[in-house]
Amino acid sequence: MAPWEGVPPEKWNDWHWQMQNRVTSAEELSKIIPLTPSERDGIGKCLSHFRMAVTPYYASLINPENPAGPIKRQAVPTVNELRADPCEMADPLREDDYSPTPGLVHRYPDRVLFMLTHKCSMYCRHCTRRRMVGCEDYSLNSEELENAFKYIENHREVHDVLLSGGDPLILSDEWLEKIIKRLRSIKHVGVIRIGTRTPVVMPMRITGGLLSMLKKYHPIWLNTHFNHPDEITPESARACEMIADAGIPVGNQSVLLKGINDDAGTLKKLYTGLIELRVRPYYLYQCDLSQGIGHFRTPVAEGVAIMKQLRGFISGFAVPEYVIDLPGGGGKTPATPDYIMGREGGSTVLRNFEGKTYTYPDP
Ligand code: SF4
Repeated sequence: MAPWEGVPPEKWNDWHWQMQNRVTSAEELSKIIPLTPSERDGIGKCLSHFRMAVTPYYASLINPENPAGPIKRQAVPTVNELRADPCEMADPLREDDYSPTPGLVHRYPDRVLFMLTHKCSMYCRHCTRRRMVGCEDYSLNSEELENAFKYIENHREVHDVLLSGGDPLILSDEWLEKIIKRLRSIKHVGVIRIGTRTPVVMPMRITGGLLSMLKKYHPIWLNTHFNHPDEITPESARACEMIADAGIPVGNQSVLLKGINDDAGTLKKLYTGLIELRVRPYYLYQCDLSQGIGHFRTPVAEGVAIMKQLRGFISGFAVPEYVIDLPGGGGKTPATPDYIMGREGGSTVLRNFEGKTYTYPDP
């Protein structure tokens, strides 16, 4: 019997209760799903490198009958995380090099990444920021926040601020409002974006109170992180619909993960399910070269082949852009299947989604 059997709905639906009752050890997990001795051993060894924390809600989605199911693989550590490939790096995107002050990364001309905390409600095993996320319960203090605000104030080219982490929605509504209100006082900040996985792993975080607060500071955009259709549940669907009803456009950034979603059928089901919730598939990321997540990586050619099976076969706005965040800090770059085959005379020759060739006469 799962430890939360009999927990009343008012507790289960309270995100604070979900945070306080996260599954953080092999012993706790073994009360929910069967674990082999080697799985227990692997979890124990991994926890000295990257913590485990699984909300009761997300743990309840694990299929105990499937030892390698998509939810379990995203939530439960394995010894594979201890393997280091020579091409892997602690900080493959060189975010630390592009950080002018703690918490801020200014890599692209008109926008900054603002990492408010290292905490998350669940620690995803494929996390690209595992060098800092999940290591310690750290959030920016008032002085660090003020330094970041001053940097943004002094850089008039910053039009778009992405609040991220960790997961910014583990912070209280009051603390978040102070940050967002301060950003809104900076005239050249046009857009505030929030990157959060809470709609997927702790959907009870999306409350009426949070959304009433966010609505005061439009335009607010939000990106979340569904990777598999099994994550679309009545609870996560409701959270996404509440966000959309608050006038906040919702996008999804998934990661191509070996053995979890690296086939066109799974991704078609995921993306068509998301657009029914008014969630727009935005990016499909090639898995980064972060240390300890090599077992999730797929060859780029496989990603391109999958994209060819999506474009034209499902609605265009259900197809995300497949991107590689280039190692060494090169930035996000599309890894698009090649539809332009070349030029003939005054025409462009293209391949359509069925592989047939067409010619477009240029003016
Ligand atoms: S929610 Fe995002 S930042 Fe947090 S562990 Fe998952 S991937 Fe990493």
